[in-house]
Amino acid sequence: MPQDEKTSTPTRDERYDAQRVEMKWFERWQQDPSLYAAESNSTMPKYYVLEMLPYPSGALHMGHVRNYSIGDALARYMWMNGYNVLHPMGWDSFGLPAENAAIKNNTPPREWTLANIASMKAQMKRLGFGYDWSREVTTCLPDYYRWNQWFFLKLYEKGLAYRKKSKVNWCPKCATVLANEQVVGGYCWRHEDTLVEQRELEQWFLRITKYADELLRDLDKLNGWPEKVRTMQRNWIGRSEGALVDFDLGGNVGPAGSTVTVFTTRIDTIYGATSVQLAPEHPIVRDMTASNADLRAKVDQLIAEQRKAKETGDIGEIEKHGVFTGRYAKNPFNQEPLPIWVANYILMDYGTGAIMSVPAHDDRDYEFAKKYKLPIRVVILPTSGDSEETVVDPQLPFVAEDGLVVNSGQFSGFTSKQALKKMAEFAEQNNFGKPTVTFRLKDWGVSRQRYWGTPIPMLYCEKDGIVPVPEKDLPVILPENVEITLTGASPLANVPEFVNTTCPKCGGSARRETDTMDTFVDSSWYFYRYADAHNDRAPFDSKEINYWFTIDQYIGGVEHAILHLIYSRFWTKFMRDISLVKNDEPVARLFTQGMVIKDGAKMSKNLGNVVSPDEMVARYGADAARLYSLFAAPPDRDLDWQDTGIEGIQRFLGRVYRFVMRNARPDSADWRKPVPTDLSPQARQIQRKLHQTIKRVTDDFKGRWHFNTCIAAIMELVNELYGAEEKAGQGTIPVALLAQVQRDLVLLLAPFAPYLAHELWETLGEKSNLLRAPWPKYDPALAKEEEIEIPVQVNGKLRGKVVVPADAGQELVQERALAEEKVKAAIAGERIVKVIFVPGKLLNFVVK
Ligand SMILES: [Zn+2]
Ligand SMILES: [Zn+2]
Repeated sequence: MPQDEKTSTPTRDERYDAQRVEMKWFERWQQDPSLYAAESNSTMPKYYVLEMLPYPSGALHMGHVRNYSIGDALARYMWMNGYNVLHPMGWDSFGLPAENAAIKNNTPPREWTLANIASMKAQMKRLGFGYDWSREVTTCLPDYYRWNQWFFLKLYEKGLAYRKKSKVNWCPKCATVLANEQVVGGYCWRHEDTLVEQRELEQWFLRITKYADELLRDLDKLNGWPEKVRTMQRNWIGRSEGALVDFDLGGNVGPAGSTVTVFTTRIDTIYGATSVQLAPEHPIVRDMTASNADLRAKVDQLIAEQRKAKETGDIGEIEKHGVFTGRYAKNPFNQEPLPIWVANYILMDYGTGAIMSVPAHDDRDYEFAKKYKLPIRVVILPTSGDSEETVVDPQLPFVAEDGLVVNSGQFSGFTSKQALKKMAEFAEQNNFGKPTVTFRLKDWGVSRQRYWGTPIPMLYCEKDGIVPVPEKDLPVILPENVEITLTGASPLANVPEFVNTTCPKCGGSARRETDTMDTFVDSSWYFYRYADAHNDRAPFDSKEINYWFTIDQYIGGVEHAILHLIYSRFWTKFMRDISLVKNDEPVARLFTQGMVIKDGAKMSKNLGNVVSPDEMVARYGADAARLYSLFAAPPDRDLDWQDTGIEGIQRFLGRVYRFVMRNARPDSADWRKPVPTDLSPQARQIQRKLHQTIKRVTDDFKGRWHFNTCIAAIMELVNELYGAEEKAGQGTIPVALLAQVQRDLVLLLAPFAPYLAHELWETLGEKSNLLRAPWPKYDPALAKEEEIEIPVQVNGKLRGKVVVPADAGQELVQERALAEEKVKAAIAGERIVKVIFVPGKLLNFVVK
């Protein structure tokens, strides 16, 4: 490494030239590619810190800078604490924007994507983020996506990947199918102004529902995750316990013995059912309307209403409409025939698409019954706890889950809770129902009719049907030079040399699947690949995973709380089940940072309030941009960007620089001597402040991560040093203490402002690598405020003593003295006419 010659001692007011200093270190760091490399066979304790990998759009935004500044500070702190740190970075590089750019700029997606990666990587390096680039993962390259295909084959082998025709979410702008998770309030997650349509298509699905129970249950183990994320996942999985009950259609729909199966979470209310209600798209509705054009028209109207409500995202708010079909279904508990209605608020994809309507005990059913004048029958009464005698007529609808069952034949007299169990059992014993559990979570539709994604490794042979591509033929390479159109069919279908192939089973001709995989497949397991990024025989070596997993700290936006974080949990459980990994969960601790906003709004080109990281780096330096993004708000809150704020940070860094430039005396004989114990009060004050600051920053790294207050504490320390600088010049502050306080100050800054810290480390005469320099330790005794005892007199007579900080002023001493019982008693009933205070020595009340 070249030695940098210091040409001149800076003058007292020399300005900190961030660009010069940062470029000097940038060049040095470029020359050492193994600087941030994690070790594979290490005896050191491991620490895996990870920020979510970006989509290579072409340029970083301030949200990225904030995300990576948090992760990088933590990685550097752990390096300084002696850990073998894995801190990798990669690119979530398949996806639609590359295709849109290809159409707009006539550039092939691959070229566009790789160019964007190169420029974003350069930005990351300039910002000084310490990534182990030897483990870089680029999901759009065959060395990565071949393992997506390999996993797909394994999933298929285990019956977890399957093909079926179904109603799917279709974004007309994306011209592709979306997963349920990608529909936000009826709109496309990428196109906030585009309503998602429903289409019927043959699709590949992954059976994530097989793991629904475990995904839910294991949330309880994830104590290192924000509670809000766990709640969002719980709601998304949406487990509800209930029962299935068959209602006989009495031969008036379908053949004799035909039934319609109802799902209910409240079987205890079944004697209160006064109608059966079906989703408009329920199959038996189709039968019932086949010969009834009038009814068909009414049902079509309900379908249209439901679709519209779904599209605007508030199906719960839908104005309830229904139509009576003229048919009846028999309640198997009491043989009562109930009218069958079709209603627009019943969804085919929840439960069975059929419910029993119990108006007395359900809000929606009550509203519907009132509107259409259906009977309302009370079968649950409120109880006042211990006595059944105190029941009162309930206010309807009465929906509480604990009550007394009445008017319900042999089940009258049980509590609701007892009846739930007994009635479900009764249904099962009599073969017309059973207890069941349903989930809101649906299987994951992974087919995308797009070009820029992982080809699904499946073939269609006329003779053999669906045939998986043999493992030895992987990867199925995504062809280049494909004409990209947003037509709704995969552009791959127009590439005959891709489509037409040979069936590995019969040797006849076969067609390749032309859909590609949802890009969330890529991000479901990418963080495992970092542990063994160049493996060409397997997705990774399990030995490496067992060393590095689980991820100690994952950092990213809360917008990934559902999609990415559920899919990757599912992937881990599947990999565990095929013995690839041992861990049940991928991530031990999750941190979700807030957004970066400006002028009170999310940064966007439309609002013209975008702050560009490049511009900030050019104007203030990378350190200032990083430090400001940590200083301006606690990391879990939104950060409102202020230009004056980053200017203040720039001035602070200049103050640190100038102080060290003026006070570094590495050649002094006393520079490396231990700090003397008999310090002057000023020197002791500096020492105390130093130890307090180390304690504060260390505690925050271990605990709540309020880096904003850490940085504020470091600023206070610097202010203290400026205040004492004159004394230092006079020699009142020992050189050894000055040396220690400057070294520790630089160490404390190293995770946040690495460029300046490295420069000053060298200025202080240190030869070791700052990245691995031991994190400073504090001495609790030295951090403690010095305290003294002050005698308190009343009229010259000793009445008590108070313990206060050594530099306490009269106000504090007086306040404490007046709280002392004996002093209070001595003053009681008298008037204080004078207070005599001798700092550090005495307090005397003169009373009359
Ligand atoms: Zn879209
Ligand atoms: Zn064949």
